Amino acid sequence: MTFTGAATVVADAVSERLALPPHVFVDGAAVPAAAGGELAVLDPASGRRIGTAARGGAGDVDRAVRAAAREFRSGAAWRTMTPLERGKVLHRIGDAILDRADEFAELEVLDAGKVRGAARSIDVDFAARAFHYFAGWPTKIVGSTVPTSHPGIHIATEKEPVGVVGAITAWNFPLLLCGWKLAPALAAGCTVVLKPSEETPHSALWLAELAIEAGLPAGVLNVVPGRGAEAGQALVDHPLVDKITFTGSTAVGKQIASRAADGVKRVTLELGGKSANIIFADADLDAAVEGSAGGLFWHSGQTCSAPSRLFVHRSVHDEVVTRLRSIADGLRPGHGLNDGTELGPLVNAAQQAKVAGHVSLAREQGAGVHVGADVPVEGFFHPATILSGARDEMDCATEEIFGPVLTVLPFDGTDEVLRRADASEYGLAAGVWTRDVGTAHRATKALRAGTVYVNGWGLTDPAAPFGGFRQSGYGRDLGPDSLESYLETKSVWTFHG
Ligand code: NDP
Repeated sequence: MTFTGAATVVADAVSERLALPPHVFVDGAAVPAAAGGELAVLDPASGRRIGTAARGGAGDVDRAVRAAAREFRSGAAWRTMTPLERGKVLHRIGDAILDRADEFAELEVLDAGKVRGAARSIDVDFAARAFHYFAGWPTKIVGSTVPTSHPGIHIATEKEPVGVVGAITAWNFPLLLCGWKLAPALAAGCTVVLKPSEETPHSALWLAELAIEAGLPAGVLNVVPGRGAEAGQALVDHPLVDKITFTGSTAVGKQIASRAADGVKRVTLELGGKSANIIFADADLDAAVEGSAGGLFWHSGQTCSAPSRLFVHRSVHDEVVTRLRSIADGLRPGHGLNDGTELGPLVNAAQQAKVAGHVSLAREQGAGVHVGADVPVEGFFHPATILSGARDEMDCATEEIFGPVLTVLPFDGTDEVLRRADASEYGLAAGVWTRDVGTAHRATKALRAGTVYVNGWGLTDPAAPFGGFRQSGYGRDLGPDSLESYLETKSVWTFHG
């Protein structure tokens, strides 16, 4: 099958997935949504319809949660499987992703507007690595003995899975977020209902089928695509859901936390950001400029940790701005399936309009706007854009734009820049570029963010916790912290006289 704007055909398996009738995946089977509703799925690079997703609703969520709750009960297959076997299943899910890596990458290009190379090497690879990493954990979940002062009593703690997890994910990393959310939840022994973004449902639905083939019992992982206000809300409100894990906007995250509070559900929120990135005067400018531009422009700026607030020491400011403009001019926009494409589209028309609105507002507020290479007229593209001469209080320096738009702000002193960089309501990521280890240490201590990069940007690792301070959320994805968030601690007291 070919797609408008794409010079290559996609794999047969991808065409087959896109042609499937709209469905939810509940209790081990692909079935139509109960109310029969449908949602169009568009290729962001052309704006044309490429598939149809089920519009899952409260009835589908209820069936999915009940299946997950049944599988969570003691005696059910997932709970009674040995830790070693559970780990093997997770490992096989990781393998299944890699076995279809090229096909998954093409699906992500078509659903989410990604560029093929990055989809393959980042999204797909990282999703697999998350399953492989967490496959090692079920055999290492241990409690402790408690040194009690009560005579004749033995106290031990046991770690138990939290229960049924409702996972709600965003469109910017559809498959990768499955690795971030599902792998630790399943490793802990939880069962899951996932509501992927209505824009990008295909990879999660395929993964759920592959997970069954890998040995996951039916009902342990269910996927209900649909609208946030319908399927998403029903999942948050369902009384049998014990924990919600969410990646998306701060506005929706706040709503979810407040609704989940009613049911005293555990909540992990990975929200937006306006990450500060500081280039000091002594930095290796080649690395700093390349790393800063790459961190911002890949996936067209639609990453929660995008280094979108770039502080540059005044002595190198003009040179950095000139180099950034030249990178923006040289980035090749196009369909993500085409070789050589470096800048893909935004996910939908609303996001395109939102980004364009931010750039217009920046211009009105007095920022210098440099627009990079022309983008295709068809599809939801926005050119790579550098905003300079901005001030800290401007919207372009405070609001999450979520597009290929970089705001550059000059600074003079170290204390000054650390104070300004930290004066944000967000705290997801931050970065510093310097050759001075003292400056680096000072900055990493001063910047309140969940991840701080020194002389680099954007890598993640399944073993490294990822999440936010302040309005960027709470709790952590990845690493042991993430696993812990899917576990409860039980104290067991034995009176032995
Ligand atoms: P949302 O926060 O609206 O969506 C994220 C997920 O939450 C989607 O699956 C969505 O469903 C679902 N959702 C929406 N409303 C509710 C609700 N009331 N209850 C439960 N679930 C809900 O992000 P958007 O996709 O609308 O993007 C808007 C902005 O959010 C972006 O411009 C960007 O600034 C930010 N964002 C940040 C991300 C991050 O990684 N931190 C990721 C994505 C966006 P559906 O979309 O399917 O209707």
